[in-house]
Amino acid sequence: MTTRRKKIYEGKAKILYEGPEPGTLIQYFKDDATAFNAQKKAVLEGKGVINNRISEFVMTKLAAIGVANHFIRRLNHREQLIKEVEIVPLEVICRNIAAGSLAKRLGLEEGTPLPRSIIEFCYKNDELGDPLVTEEHITAFNWATTQDIDDIMAMTLRINDFLTGMFGAVGITLVDFKIEFGRIWDGDFSRLILADEISPDSCRLWDSTTNEKLDKDRFRRDLGDVIESYTEVARRLGIMKDMPTVIQGGLH
Ligand code: UDP
Repeated sequence: MTTRRKKIYEGKAKILYEGPEPGTLIQYFKDDATAFNAQKKAVLEGKGVINNRISEFVMTKLAAIGVANHFIRRLNHREQLIKEVEIVPLEVICRNIAAGSLAKRLGLEEGTPLPRSIIEFCYKNDELGDPLVTEEHITAFNWATTQDIDDIMAMTLRINDFLTGMFGAVGITLVDFKIEFGRIWDGDFSRLILADEISPDSCRLWDSTTNEKLDKDRFRRDLGDVIESYTEVARRLGIMKDMPTVIQGGLH
């Protein structure tokens, strides 16, 4: 990198830099992978490039159906220009099929379809391991209002419906996903928009025919072929042709 930029925040998989105009930031996707609250770490070459494109693709499609989000435009292979938001300190999880922590917590066999889609909230705090919280905690601690929670739930269900169809059309089952929301201020008024990323790092994606995992569980559970699986998701979404040749070459 030739220019010096102010780093605003560095997370486990992304870095945020100051943007070129007020109210914007640059979101940089790293190749770093972490799991189990960063106890397990690795560098997966090319992951950042693939997630940058997948998240762009998904956010653009969501914007087109009226789900406001932070994506503005792609800057390069690893970076996108985004709207600066005040992140709501919640991880919003939406589940269609039992897996991961829900399967464990409720003693459900992984792969069991849920009676309906379930939304959960976790408090975004790495030191505490992102504990599950209820609306009571959220409103009592002023992380979000009851109205915000209603808006978040409505947007999350809409995102779930759209993504279920989008992935379903290319033979991928959307098992669950995690999203985050951010607040944008306009004078005294604020609105919530979708922020962060949507990628195989933040979703459980299973091949609809074989149930093969095409997401971060390949890393968490040492199943191998992590990048190959992320690449397969991009290929099915039809965005591999836009990838740099090094990534495309890695396919074969
Ligand atoms: N998830 C995430 N970041 C987190 C925790 C969960 O992106 O810090 C995603 C995860 O990839 C999965 C969904 O949220 O798609 C539900 O995860 P779960 O609560 O089952 O947690 P895990 O089994 O990953 O600990």
